[in-house]
Amino acid sequence: MADAGEFGLIARYFTRPTPSALLGPGDDCALLAPTPGKVLAVTTDMLVAGVHFLPDTDPERLGWKSLAVNLSDLAAMGATARWVTLAGALPAADEAWLAAFARGFFACAEAHGVELVGGDTTAGPLNLCVTALGEIEPDQALRRSGAQVGDEVWVSGRPGLAALGLAHLQGRVSLPEPWPRLCLAALEKPRPRLALGAALRSVAHAAIDISDGMLADLGHLARASGLAATLHLVQLPQLRELAGSGARYDADLRRLALECQLSGGDDYELLFTAARGQHNRIAEIAAELELPLWCIGEMSAGTPGAVQVLDPDGEPVEFARRGYEHFQAAVPDQAPHAHG
Ligand code: ADP
Ligand code: MG
Repeated sequence: MADAGEFGLIARYFTRPTPSALLGPGDDCALLAPTPGKVLAVTTDMLVAGVHFLPDTDPERLGWKSLAVNLSDLAAMGATARWVTLAGALPAADEAWLAAFARGFFACAEAHGVELVGGDTTAGPLNLCVTALGEIEPDQALRRSGAQVGDEVWVSGRPGLAALGLAHLQGRVSLPEPWPRLCLAALEKPRPRLALGAALRSVAHAAIDISDGMLADLGHLARASGLAATLHLVQLPQLRELAGSGARYDADLRRLALECQLSGGDDYELLFTAARGQHNRIAEIAAELELPLWCIGEMSAGTPGAVQVLDPDGEPVEFARRGYEHFQAAVPDQAPHAHG
């Protein structure tokens, strides 16, 4: 059945109208024209079964997530998302799986105004690679290297939920209601913060999305900026309130929640720095976007990349692990985990 071959699958599942491209899927290349005066922001992320997601992950959510993690990188740059390509290795032409994957992928694409303009489809171990193209005025891009001494450090949303969701899925913790729903939604259906990135263009000095873990990604930003950072535990978003009054929140769960918040990956919230004078403007942005933004620390002169965490008494706290790194010696909690 020719139809179930590569080209039939592409035509059926991955070909949609692309009015914002000069030429979309079907030729040797797509043809794209960025808005005059803007530059392209280009990013690629690969999701490998068994490394970035559990092989039995719901395909619709995987379709959403494979695109969302790329759009998150555009958001962290302050770029407007325009086009994407999708390269997939698939173990089999499982049409039910493909239909669900495409449903999730295009739901995310439509929600964020991007068009799928090309890709590649091959047989092989399940592996999904998306390239996202956005555009931005060259002097407005939010680079990791732009932080300045005295900047406040901010984070959006509630980092940590995705890692808690993974711990729950892996049976390392049994989360009380209503955490499982919240945490699994954060893990499997992350919301790229494109509107926040756009709002921060003329406000933030530097930004990064949290894919490896908050401490690790703050460290990346600090190193790129040649600065040190301090983070105050008391200023972190409180996860406790999500558990609802009456729900269990014992010492074990509190410890795990803090660990997930600081070093769990896969959140795709934005971490950014801005001058103190922008504090009120950032509070306004939070209200406009109905997205909580938390001022969690500050940048200072010091060892580039060093991140100090202070407890409520202002005493430094040590953490064994800052985030996820591929090719690192295996540690027990580095099972299929964060992305990046
Ligand atoms: P080529 O042989 O030139 O690499 P392909 O046969 O791989 O072309 O792909 C044919 C067309 O289908 C191309 O335009 C390509 O961009 C598009 N395409 C292939 N896979 C996908 C996909 N998963 N999603 C969208 N477009 C795709
Ligand atoms: Mg090809």
